[in-house]
Amino acid sequence: MRRAVFPGSFDPITLGHLNIIERALPLFDEIIIAIGVNAEKKYMWSLEERTAFIEKIFTKEAKIKVKTYNGLTVHFCKTEKADFILRGLRNTSDFNYEQSIAQTNAAMEGIESIFLVASPAIAHISSSIVRDVQRNGGNISEMVPTNVQKES
Ligand code: ADP
Repeated sequence: MRRAVFPGSFDPITLGHLNIIERALPLFDEIIIAIGVNAEKKYMWSLEERTAFIEKIFTKEAKIKVKTYNGLTVHFCKTEKADFILRGLRNTSDFNYEQSIAQTNAAMEGIESIFLVASPAIAHISSSIVRDVQRNGGNISEMVPTNVQKES
């Protein structure tokens, strides 16, 4: 089975994440959306809220699983028997950040990273901007799925 892990904080899931997931669906038999838990990081939405947002979006998509994990993404991939890590690339900063991580993951555990280049219409969207807008009372509806906007 061709299984990929799509790791991230998803604080919150955005239309950018959704675009990457939808475009990756034909490439894999299963995609595990993996919410990384970092005890030192402060999140705007709780783990339960972030998980529920994603589960609600994909209830009808049998190829998508939603899980949470601690520790190294490659160890989680091994546990889940996933050979691929899926990531999105918005710009050269994303690329510079991802390159050495992908090389390390390949060297450590033979896990290949598959990158999809962001579609121009959503390349500007990031969870951190969504959080800034939300914190300051702005409108996030153009950047997040409807359920995230309604329940936030
Ligand atoms: P992380 O904290 O690991 O960067 P994120 O939740 O911010 O987690 O992002 C998860 C993945 O989704 C990353 O590969 C990121 O580059 C990608 N991503 C986020 N926003 C977009 C977007 N607008 N277009 C394409 N990919 C995106």
